[in-house]
Amino acid sequence: AIELQGLHKYFGRNEVLKGIDMTVDPGQVVCVIGPSGSGKSTLLRCVNLLEQPTRGKVFVKGAEVTHPDVDIDAVRRHIGMVFQQFNLFPHMTALQNVMIAQQRVLKRGRAEAEVVARENLDKVGVGAKCDALPGQLSGGQQQRVAIARALAMNPDLMLFDEPTSALDPELVGDVLTVMRKLAEEGMTMLVVTHEMGFAREVADRVAFMDGGVIVEDGPPSQVIGDPHQERTRAFLHRVL
Ligand code: ATP
Ligand code: MG
Repeated sequence: AIELQGLHKYFGRNEVLKGIDMTVDPGQVVCVIGPSGSGKSTLLRCVNLLEQPTRGKVFVKGAEVTHPDVDIDAVRRHIGMVFQQFNLFPHMTALQNVMIAQQRVLKRGRAEAEVVARENLDKVGVGAKCDALPGQLSGGQQQRVAIARALAMNPDLMLFDEPTSALDPELVGDVLTVMRKLAEEGMTMLVVTHEMGFAREVADRVAFMDGGVIVEDGPPSQVIGDPHQERTRAFLHRVL
């Protein structure tokens, strides 16, 4: 569902992505791991064009989204993204947060948007919190509202950028459980994470990034369990 071909990204003179080739097949979960500053977030943001790649191509569901004629809003509509910071509207309830983009972007009516919002809030286990403001929710609950908001748009694929990194340790599990369930349902997912347990158990492949390149890409049992590259070994030694 996602294919990156020779992707390069510069910020000024700083080459942050140095030729990335990667494929995520439909229904696959690929986890991206690597040190701070290696380009993981930039890679993810190039998939939905939050960053414009300097060179190379991005295909989503077979269509080239880096083509100059492409409708960027239409591309984004089919891609859900969840960030480290939940970015919920603080003055809106959980329910309203999950309804708003459905109404504004997909032009769904109020009643339909509400039904879909309640379904998805139930699905991520915060159905009882529909009327709470984000400030009245724990970080884990807020992040699950953010996931429900993305799912309510019926995305073809989901991008996660360190979705549990801002959470207190005891709240991480609830969010990972939701992500695991999504993976089991066949959602295509590209996930930047430091959660090696999740990567091991859920990912079809793990890609280790360092210095703007993918150093190693393979099944988790190999990349995490038996890394071939010294740089991967050194990184895992630091984080495990
Ligand atoms: P982390 O684990 O800390 O989130 P990362 O692997 O996600 O790191 P990126 O955020 O992709 O790394 O950043 C890669 C490099 O690109 C860094 O050197 C960063 O300073 C630079 N960079 C990222 N975004 C921008 C930007 N908008 N303008 C200029 N430089 C940027
Ligand atoms: Mg990042």
